[in-house]
Amino acid sequence: MIAVDTLIAKKIRLPSPPTIAIRILDAVRRDDRSFSELAGVIKSDPALTARILKVANSPFYRVLSGVGSIEKALSVLGTNAIKNIALSFIIAGSLQGTTDGRFDLDHFWKRSVTAAVAADLIARLTDLDNDDLFVTALLQDIGTVIMASSCPDDYLRVLNERVVACLPLEEMERAVFGFDHQQAGAELLSMWKLPESVHTPIRYHHASDVASHEYRLVVTVLDISQRFAALFLGSRSMETELNAIKSGLASTFGIKGSAADTLIDNVAERTIEVFAAFDLEPGNIRPLSQMMQEANEELSNLNSSYELLVVELKQAKEKAEKLAQELGEANEKLMELAFRDGLTGLYNHRYFQEALDREMARADRYGRGLSLLLFDIDHFKRINDTYGHMRGDLVLNELGRVIADFVRVSDVAARYGGEEFAVVLPETDLAGAKTLAERLRSSVEQLVITADGEKITFTVSIGITSYHARSRVKEKARLIDMADKALYISKQSGRNRVSVMSLPGC
Ligand code: GH3
Ligand code: MG
Ligand code: MG
Repeated sequence: MIAVDTLIAKKIRLPSPPTIAIRILDAVRRDDRSFSELAGVIKSDPALTARILKVANSPFYRVLSGVGSIEKALSVLGTNAIKNIALSFIIAGSLQGTTDGRFDLDHFWKRSVTAAVAADLIARLTDLDNDDLFVTALLQDIGTVIMASSCPDDYLRVLNERVVACLPLEEMERAVFGFDHQQAGAELLSMWKLPESVHTPIRYHHASDVASHEYRLVVTVLDISQRFAALFLGSRSMETELNAIKSGLASTFGIKGSAADTLIDNVAERTIEVFAAFDLEPGNIRPLSQMMQEANEELSNLNSSYELLVVELKQAKEKAEKLAQELGEANEKLMELAFRDGLTGLYNHRYFQEALDREMARADRYGRGLSLLLFDIDHFKRINDTYGHMRGDLVLNELGRVIADFVRVSDVAARYGGEEFAVVLPETDLAGAKTLAERLRSSVEQLVITADGEKITFTVSIGITSYHARSRVKEKARLIDMADKALYISKQSGRNRVSVMSLPGC
């Protein structure tokens, strides 16, 4: 046991007890039976009287008929209860303003009151014969306030470093101060002449194994009561505290299952009532059943929002896929547009050039050949002149359709420019190309285009050349030039015919 001197040497100021507290304690000691002296002391402080009546009438004590006077309160609730209520108020009041802003006195009192209510309810439930349990639990940590108000900087160090060091508060206090809040609190309360049944359990409330047998049960209740404070006001996980409370209640007092749940709920409900008496805000304290319900609701909200999210994600995915598909199609269309000739719907000149490069390379790769057709409408100028440019366009368009009908999918039919057309025929030799060209020429010859009552007929001249992997000439320009030459021959020899020019080596 440490002496008061040690505390004083460490500059711990033990505030002298408020006079009214001493008078109340003296009165209780003297006239336990008549209440009159105790009632007189309390009534000398009107504010205290009012608060005691408020508590006596609160649902916490469940008094059916109203309690209108201190005498009635004493007779209904008993001297001890009233003494405890009075002392709680007086001590709470006397500590007000003793610490600086860094020590949260309000939070300290909330935790203390919660612990006190929990201890009191456990005592009632277990017939634990200790009328002082409420005030003992309430004051169990009063040492921390004494230490924090006397040496605020050192105490703040304790609070900060214990988190880092992961040490219990009392161990960190001992490391910094040489003693802990259990001892400081016990010294203070024994100096204030509170009964031994209050200050001895407080001296050992974190060391039940050291506590004498007489107080061991009380110390256990104090330990569980602290955990209630942590459950409702602490920052640690609700689950950890709840498990510790439940296992403590079950192993020490045989309180289990729904009885334990009801007790936990009652602690929350009563705590809120007593908070009001101490002018403390209830804050976030709510019955366990409500906490559980909220947790469940949160979970089901989470679940349903999860399900909703899944649906939304699925929809978003489908939408994205549809968009991607549409985009792909649009791109294809755009590519097509970029490679197509607007008037005839055939490939354009650029595409033809690329296609011919590709097909020549492919022919080289596979040791094969290809043919190229170039053709030109005969006297197209005349058609334009006779029927007008619009009808001329219609002729170009119709010819495009005829060519498209004639070729295979793998063939590339293009408008080479003006009224000239080109067809690349992969894997087609000169003979095959000649047959196709002849059929095409003949079809065009027989074609009659009706435009605004006018029947238009026309012919085409065609030039053909072929390429093979064996060809010595490898330049595309030479191939085109050769086809053009063949076309020129067709024109020169009377038009409406097919001519052939071979590349050297083919
Ligand atoms: P040839 O038999 O020698 O080929 O005689 P041609 O009249 O067909 O040849 P020429 O090169 O002298 O004239 C081609 C004409 O084709 C001139 C031009 O106005 C016309 N033409 C070129 N492109 C278009 C087009 O897109 N639409 C129309 N309507 N006419 C076009
Ligand atoms: Mg021409
Ligand atoms: Mg022409």
